[in-house]
Amino acid sequence: MGPPGAGKGTQAKGIAEAYQIPAVSTGDIFRAISKADAATASELALQVKEIMTSGGYVSDEITNQIVAERLGQADAAEGFLLDGYPRTAGQVEALDAMLAANGQRLDGVISLEADQDELVARLLKRAEVEGRADDNEETIRKRQQVYAEQTADLLRIYSDRGLLVAVDGLGEIDEVSDRITDALDTHLNRE
Ligand code: AMP
Repeated sequence: MGPPGAGKGTQAKGIAEAYQIPAVSTGDIFRAISKADAATASELALQVKEIMTSGGYVSDEITNQIVAERLGQADAAEGFLLDGYPRTAGQVEALDAMLAANGQRLDGVISLEADQDELVARLLKRAEVEGRADDNEETIRKRQQVYAEQTADLLRIYSDRGLLVAVDGLGEIDEVSDRITDALDTHLNRE
C-alpha cells in the first residue's frame, strides 16, 4: 500500500522480480479490461470503463471475483504480490476467505510512507514536466486525502494482525527498494 506518487507500482514490480512471484495489480487488470474496443467490449468492460473514468471504485463483487480468478492461475500457486488490492474492508474479508480456501496466508503488508507535502511537491513537478494541466495542487491534495481516509482502516486491520511492514517511501527508486527488501526480510525472519 502507498499513497499516490510514492512509486507503489514501480516497487511492486521490483519486489515481484526479486521474489520471483507475479505482481497482481488490480489497476492494471481493470485498465486492460476497459481497453477492449467498443465493438467487442463486454458488459463488464463497459462498466469498468465508466467507473474508472468517473474516478470511482469498481464494486467489491467484481473486484473480488477478478482477483480470485487471477490468484487461481498456476503462476500464483507459490506466491504473489498484490498491488492496489485490497482497498476496502469487504475486500480484506474476501481475500481472507480466498487465502483460507487455498491454504495460503499473507506474509506481510508493505506500507510505503511518505510526507504528504513532499509527495505533493513531487507530483506538481511531474505534472509540470508532463504538461498535465488537470494535476493541480488541489486535485493532488484531494487524492492524497482520499487515499489516507480509505486506507486508515485497512492499515489498522493489518497492523493489529502483526503484518504491517512500514517503509520510508521517499528517495531514489533503488534506495526505496533496498529498504523494502531489508524490512521484508527482517519481518519474514521474525515469523
Ligand atoms: P490504480 O491504478 O490502482 O489507481 O487503479 C485504477 C482504478 O482501477 C481505480 O481508480 C479504480 O477505479 C480501479 N481499481 C483498482 N483497484 C481497485 C480495487 N481494489 N477496488 C476497486 N477498484 C479498483
